[in-house]
Amino acid sequence: MTSKVCIVGAGIAGAGAAYALDEAAEVTVFEAEDIGGRMVSAHREDCVYDYGANYVDPPNDRVEERFRSVVGDRLAETTGDVWVFDESGEVEEGRPNQGVKLSGRDGIDEIVRAFLDASDATVQEQTAVNRLARTADGWAVTADGERLASDAVVVTPPAGDLLAKADWEADFRETLVAARQRQSYRTIDSVALHYPFEMDVPYYALVNTDKEHAVGWLSRESCKPGHVPDGEEILIVQLSPAWAAGRPDATPAEAADAASTHAATLLADDRLAEPDWWDHERFRYALPGDRVNPALFEQALEHDLGLAGDWLAGTGRTHAALETGLEAGRRLSTRL
Ligand SMILES: Cc1cc2nc3c(=O)[nH]c(=O)nc-3n(C[C@H](O)[C@H](O)[C@H](O)COP(=O)(O)OP(=O)(O)OC[C@H]3O[C@@H](n4cnc5c(N)ncnc54)[C@H](O)[C@@H]3O)c2cc1C
Repeated sequence: MTSKVCIVGAGIAGAGAAYALDEAAEVTVFEAEDIGGRMVSAHREDCVYDYGANYVDPPNDRVEERFRSVVGDRLAETTGDVWVFDESGEVEEGRPNQGVKLSGRDGIDEIVRAFLDASDATVQEQTAVNRLARTADGWAVTADGERLASDAVVVTPPAGDLLAKADWEADFRETLVAARQRQSYRTIDSVALHYPFEMDVPYYALVNTDKEHAVGWLSRESCKPGHVPDGEEILIVQLSPAWAAGRPDATPAEAADAASTHAATLLADDRLAEPDWWDHERFRYALPGDRVNPALFEQALEHDLGLAGDWLAGTGRTHAALETGLEAGRRLSTRL
């Protein structure tokens, strides 16, 4: 009989797990919101913009080839380099020979969709897993009131109390939950600012190097093929974690105002203070600050539990999250 595996979360880690489990199991992926997770894109008018992860920067040729072979011509390669600025707001050229930066032509979430499409997994969007229960021969997964028996589960979300409230008696559960609760995360306000004109600057993006500026990152979606029509621009401005920490109750309008005001100053262009529309998202769990003990991954497998996600990798990088998902999928495959 074919084994069944449920995956919690359709971010890049969950998609990687589904991809690696393809041959070995009948896979169901539950996603509380939309496919992509923090690789999230929005469409408005004729524009598409990535307001979570900006791009995938594969660390080596092997990983780059994996993205190219799975995502193929749905990939969009960003043109232009990343320049730098410090607390004073002075902009300088960044390091030479920067690597490839990949998004999707229809948004960065296309990359996650491509990995899911390449698997045979059934994906249920807008369907949160509410409860996990350990059973004699696997797990019972309850999502939107439906209970599904599963030989194994893969858990990818960076936080949440799914494991803490799981119906599962094991010392390991306490260890795992405590380790996750100890993890720190940086919170980031991300603002998309739209302008009905093009910008004439020699870079794709600016990054703050001394972490002393209210803006951590600013980039131009027009540098991604297919994202912004000619004659327009969308800036993505990510306010620093310190900005969010100092303003726990900031409204979207306050974040948008800070983003546009700083953009105008940093780029020395007054027009940027008045976008014709904007969008905002606060990512409470934007980037993990540390990693959990990697031994937890091995121990979890003994309980038919795959762990995956950037929280396990300990770094907020899409390629690292993908690797954890692929590894969880591969290792569970050998046990089914
Ligand atoms: C503002 C920002 C900028 C970034 N920039 C970059 C960048 O330029 N390059 C880069 O490589 N990385 C970047 N990152 C980091 C990158 O986005 C993450 O490391 C990566 O996307 C994490 O993927 P994941 O699958 O581990 O987690 P996620 O993408 O968070 O996926 C977890 C999924 O689980 C779902 N979920 C949660 N609870 C449940 C439940 N109970 N039931 C079902 N589903 C559930 C969530 O909705 C989510 O979709 C950035 C992140 C942010 C926030």
